[in-house]
Amino acid sequence: NGSLYVLATPIGNLADVTLRAIAGFHAADIVLAEDTRVTGSLLAAYGISKKLVSLREHNEREMAASVIRWLQEGKIVVQVSDAGTPGISDPGARLAQAVWAAGLRVVPVAGASAVIAALSASGLDTARFLFHGFLPPKRGQRCKTLQQWQDADYAVVCYEAPHRILECVEDVAATLGAERPLILARELTKTFETFLRLPAAELAERIRSDSNQQRGECVLIIDAAAPVAQTADSLPAPALALLAELAAVLP
Ligand code: SAM
Repeated sequence: NGSLYVLATPIGNLADVTLRAIAGFHAADIVLAEDTRVTGSLLAAYGISKKLVSLREHNEREMAASVIRWLQEGKIVVQVSDAGTPGISDPGARLAQAVWAAGLRVVPVAGASAVIAALSASGLDTARFLFHGFLPPKRGQRCKTLQQWQDADYAVVCYEAPHRILECVEDVAATLGAERPLILARELTKTFETFLRLPAAELAERIRSDSNQQRGECVLIIDAAAPVAQTADSLPAPALALLAELAAVLP
């Protein structure tokens, strides 16, 4: 039986492709692509020509049956998305699940992903983080979603469309506070790569006044909330007793 190779492609810079990805493309009998034109030009850039079959969210289930048949015939099937790692805010999960369920193998060909690229250069503490992917497009639902990270002690990574980035940052300022530290990572690995690191309200102002910031692809990182200052109520009893003693003797 053949295997399904879930293969990562660059998120911008065409040099960010692995040797294993190139070998995988060469070996493939069939390449499943989101937009066959996008993958066609990527392959052309590497001098590779392959049979491309469209795999999108709406046909993933029915394509799974064909893919399983191809794998049982011993074919090598490679799945890619338009950019980055398939299955990460991109189609792929249902197909992988069906292939595993059929007793066949799914093999990751690891590579670029915008979430990891943004985090890795952010300078933030990434010991723990939450990847949320795309926030709801409507303001009400988006604010409700944001609300849950009010006291988060970990960074939250979101993907956002450029035409919604301003609204989204405004909503962060409104729900999580004007001072919440944010990082906007834009056009990663490309010519106009930018990292803006500002409190929410200032970032909104910056995006509003510079329309370039509303172009291209972007990752928004909402940093952890500042630790809550200790109040007298939250101190342990021995500390409170000591404070009382000191208060009595100090001028
Ligand atoms: N599967 C992809 C991955 O592994 O990163 C993500 C696909 S998702 C449909 C596309 C979103 O990823 C964009 O809207 C943007 O938020 C983010 N993205 C992709 N490439 C990017 C880049 N070069 N710079 C910043 N964000 C990027």
